[in-house]
Amino acid sequence: MNNNKLTPIPMVDLKEELKLLRTPILEMIMEVLDSGNYVLGEKGEKLEELVANYTGATYGLGVANGTDALVLALKALNIASGDEVITSPFTFFATGEAIAEVGARPVFVDIEEESYNIDPSKMEAAITPNTKAIIVIHLYGKAANMKEIMAIAQKHELFVIEDACQAIGTEYEGKRVGSIGDIGCFSFFPSKNLGALGDAGLITTNQKEIYERIAKLRNHGSDKKYHHSLIGMNSRLDEFQAAILLVKLYYLDIFLHKRKEVAKRYTANLRDILLTPAVPDDREHTFHQYCIELDSRDALAAELNKKEIASAIYYPIPLHLQKAFHYLQYKEGDFPIAEKAAKRILALPIYPMLTFQQQDFIISAIQAYMKDQENTNS
Ligand SMILES: *Cc1c(COP(=O)(O)O)cnc(C)c1O
Repeated sequence: MNNNKLTPIPMVDLKEELKLLRTPILEMIMEVLDSGNYVLGEKGEKLEELVANYTGATYGLGVANGTDALVLALKALNIASGDEVITSPFTFFATGEAIAEVGARPVFVDIEEESYNIDPSKMEAAITPNTKAIIVIHLYGKAANMKEIMAIAQKHELFVIEDACQAIGTEYEGKRVGSIGDIGCFSFFPSKNLGALGDAGLITTNQKEIYERIAKLRNHGSDKKYHHSLIGMNSRLDEFQAAILLVKLYYLDIFLHKRKEVAKRYTANLRDILLTPAVPDDREHTFHQYCIELDSRDALAAELNKKEIASAIYYPIPLHLQKAFHYLQYKEGDFPIAEKAAKRILALPIYPMLTFQQQDFIISAIQAYMKDQENTNS
C-alpha cells in the first residue's frame, strides 16, 4: 500500500488507490463488457439501490454527473424562469450554474464563519414571493445546519435540495446527508470521496412522485421507448462507471474513516498555530477537503510547493463575484464571510492512501513556516 516515496505529495492520489482495487475493478469491467448492456443497466440499478440504502433514502437515480443531478432536481420541482433559488456563494460553480441553467435566479446568502456552509440566520431576509427552493451545500464533507434550514423551508413552503457532492456518508442527527431534504445530489467525479473513473452522479429522494419524474427527465422525458411525456435531457449513468462505483462503494466507509484519521492528526498538530476545521459534536465532517485558514495563505502555499507538497484553494472567487454572474449585480462586500474565507483558506492534501510519513512531512513543513513567520514578525 505504501509507495515508499515521500514526495511529490499531490492533493489526491487516485493511482495509488487503484492499485489496491485493480483486480475487483477489472473483474467488474469484464462483466459489463460481456453483458452487452452499457447504459442504464443492471449495474446501474444495483448502484442506485445500494447508494439509496447507504444514504437512508428510499429512491436512487443514476445520472451522468453531479451538475446534471442538480439541474434534474430543479427541473423535477418545476423550477424555471421567474423563480428564485437561495444558495451559498461559497461553493463549486456548478451549484449556481444549475440554477441559472434552468432559467431561475440564484440568490446568495452568506456563510457561517466556522462551517463555511450557508448561514440559516441570514436566510429569511433573502426570501421573496418568487423563492421556490434552497440548495444547501455540505461543503468539504461537513454537514450544513439542516435542522434550522428545514424549519425555515417548512415555514415558507420551500423545497430543499441538498448538494451532497462532497459529502456522501456524512451523518447529521442520525441521518445521512442527501436523505434529509426533498432531493439529494451526488457527484462521483473521480476526485470525490466516492469517485468513478470518469463522470457519474446520482440523485436520492424519499418521494415517489419526484423519483418517477426524474426517471423520465434523465431519459428524454420518456419511460417507454419513443413515447415522450416531458421535455427532458440525456443524463444517464453508464454501466462501466456504475460497475466501478459498486467496487468503490464497498470500501467507502474504510476510506472515509481514513480521511477522518488524517484530519484528526492534522488538527492535533496544527490547531495551536493556525485555524483548523471546527468539528462540533452535532455536525459530522467526512473531509472531502481539509481546509486551514491563515492570513499569509499564498506564502504558505508557495513554501509547500517548494517542498513538492500540493495545496489548493477551494474556492478563490465566491460565486457572486464570478464574471458569469455579473448580471446578478452583486458586488464586493455583499458577502463578507465568504469573501474573507476565499482570501484565507488553503486545502491540504487528504486522501485514504496518504501515509503517516507523508503527513508528518506536511505537518513539519507547516510548523517550520509558521515559526519563521513568528520570528520575522517579532
Ligand atoms: C463536484 C461538485 C459538483 C458537480 O459535480 P460534477 O459531477 O463534477 O458535475 C457540484 N457541487 C459541488 C459542491 C461539487 O463539489
